[in-house]
Amino acid sequence: MSRSLEISLEERLAGVRAAGRWRRTRVLDGPQRPEQVIDGHAVIAFCSNDYLGLADDPAVAAAAREALDRYGVGAGAAHLINGHTRAHDELEQALARFTGRERSLVFSTGYMANLALVQVLAGRHDTVFEDRLNHASLIDAVRLSGARSQRYRHADIEHLRERLEKVPTNNQRLIVTDGVFSMDGDLAPLPQLAALAREFDAWLMVDDAHGLSVLGETGGGSCQHFGLGADDIPILMGTLGKGFGTAGAFVAGSDALIETLIQTARPYIYTTAMPAALAAATLASLQIAEAAGDRRRHLQHLLRRLGEGLDRLGLPHPSPVTPIQPVTLGDSARATAVAERLFTAGFLVPAIRPPTVPEGEARLRITLSAAHTTAQIDALLDALALALRD
Ligand SMILES: *Cc1c(COP(=O)(O)O)cnc(C)c1O
Repeated sequence: MSRSLEISLEERLAGVRAAGRWRRTRVLDGPQRPEQVIDGHAVIAFCSNDYLGLADDPAVAAAAREALDRYGVGAGAAHLINGHTRAHDELEQALARFTGRERSLVFSTGYMANLALVQVLAGRHDTVFEDRLNHASLIDAVRLSGARSQRYRHADIEHLRERLEKVPTNNQRLIVTDGVFSMDGDLAPLPQLAALAREFDAWLMVDDAHGLSVLGETGGGSCQHFGLGADDIPILMGTLGKGFGTAGAFVAGSDALIETLIQTARPYIYTTAMPAALAAATLASLQIAEAAGDRRRHLQHLLRRLGEGLDRLGLPHPSPVTPIQPVTLGDSARATAVAERLFTAGFLVPAIRPPTVPEGEARLRITLSAAHTTAQIDALLDALALALRD
């Protein structure tokens, strides 16, 4: 054991502790569903990204089981060697059709899909324009690409325009945004972003991790919500571990975009394909999600109910359209204390603190799922009213 290594690590850990940023893994027994047992404590969870309740869906699990019998567990190799099965192929075709794009490409995680996309689309001489509240994986993707970064104020079209005007036109310009912001639950102004991208001949990329499956008539996400198509949003990324309830991610776009990723994206080429059983399970969940108008309507009903309750408590919250409804409390210690009181009362609502959110904006991040009941929302609101009393 290296002594200097241990000392250096202990110092860093002490720093994290002193800053009140210590994080801890809780252990979940059983599937991802609202009623769960975590750290041996029965709770109703309001923190999962399983927005449609598909993570524990019997039909999705059955599809995985069937594919396990057919393909075994491991993919065994990268897609370009021999890890790409018929199940992956079918899923990619289904995702292309679902998103109304020419083709799609499956990745093992959303983090990797973002690394791949930005790396392929922007290099050292290019500029990437990023919303200041973009997901960490997008920020890291831009850093790794070596491109110049210009961060614009959250959802601020005029600020983005100013930034676009300042950058020399001989370089490529890429605008990157979350479709639904993961810590704030609001939507990016996609119609205005698409218009601006067109005006400046910039490329627009949307990470719709929290919009797909949830927003739009058939779960087509932020694009469908705004009635935007492939001409407006040519580069679309989505994750499979959230509303679709499985794991992995995909990129959807033109034939040339997908082929360029296959030929040149290192996070695609140099990694093992996701297990075929996961691809088969996702194909099943995609079919359910597309036809799940009833689940989406129930979710909207729950969101309105939560929104009305938060209004009664005088707590500001985003417009109840997306299933991410943060309640900003400001101070990290207060957010942590309220989250702990809720946990003791049987409700799992995480406190999100800096550096995940800006300094002074610590919050409770409430997320809802179509698997929640109205009674569970009411119970959460009652517990919240008590937990907020000092
Ligand atoms: C979760 C998330 C990712 C990362 O996806 P994983 O599949 O979990 O790696 C990327 N972007 C956004 C906006 C996310 O919320």
